[in-house]
Amino acid sequence: MGDFRSGGFKDRDSNSGGGPRRFDGPREMHKATCGDCGKECEVPFKPKEGRPVYCRDCYQKHRPERS
Ligand SMILES: [Zn+2]
Repeated sequence: MGDFRSGGFKDRDSNSGGGPRRFDGPREMHKATCGDCGKECEVPFKPKEGRPVYCRDCYQKHRPERS
């Protein structure tokens, strides 16, 4: 570590400033049961049948790793 001088990275970051996505307004939450720990949770998308839904904690564990 210590060699993190990425000039291009900052450039890319500022590029996404004017996206068309808007995050104002309440999100519709859907109740679901976590497919891992079984806790009841709410997700900001409609759970699809046959697809596991994870609570926040388990989602961290199950999402694809990126490093
Ligand atoms: Zn869970």
